[in-house]
Amino acid sequence: MNIARVVSSRATCHRKFVGAVIVRDKTILSTGYNGSVRGLPHCSDAGHMMVEGHCVATIHAEMNAIIQAARNGVRIEDASIYITASPCWNCFKALANAGIKRICYGEFYRDDRSFDVAQELDIDMAHVPLEEGAVVKVPPAEGPRRTG
Ligand SMILES: [Zn+2]
Ligand SMILES: [Zn+2]
Repeated sequence: MNIARVVSSRATCHRKFVGAVIVRDKTILSTGYNGSVRGLPHCSDAGHMMVEGHCVATIHAEMNAIIQAARNGVRIEDASIYITASPCWNCFKALANAGIKRICYGEFYRDDRSFDVAQELDIDMAHVPLEEGAVVKVPPAEGPRRTG
């Protein structure tokens, strides 16, 4: 989880720093953080793309971790994922179809639909609190920073 926390510090949308690490048998298969589409400017440079109070410019950390595995031809079936925040509904669906069997999250984030469905799908959801001492200093955001 500490590694996920470090990865999250690379996020390029300052509205939410999230990091994800996909692991099997203590081996890191893939990592991801929330950021813009490859080739497009970062939120920190070009501003956010706001829809209904959320920034939609970025691809979420867990999606990017799945994509990185796909680009590198790494099999992630039956693997575990460590995410600094619990997955949103869209990411949860992608993780489920990617064959992820265990989701460890650092903090609860917004959506609890996944929790109901996870049991049905035999996906283990585990709360792994972020260790105080492991907190990575977040670089100061350019411009006004909003939460949510
Ligand atoms: Zn943004
Ligand atoms: Zn998501």
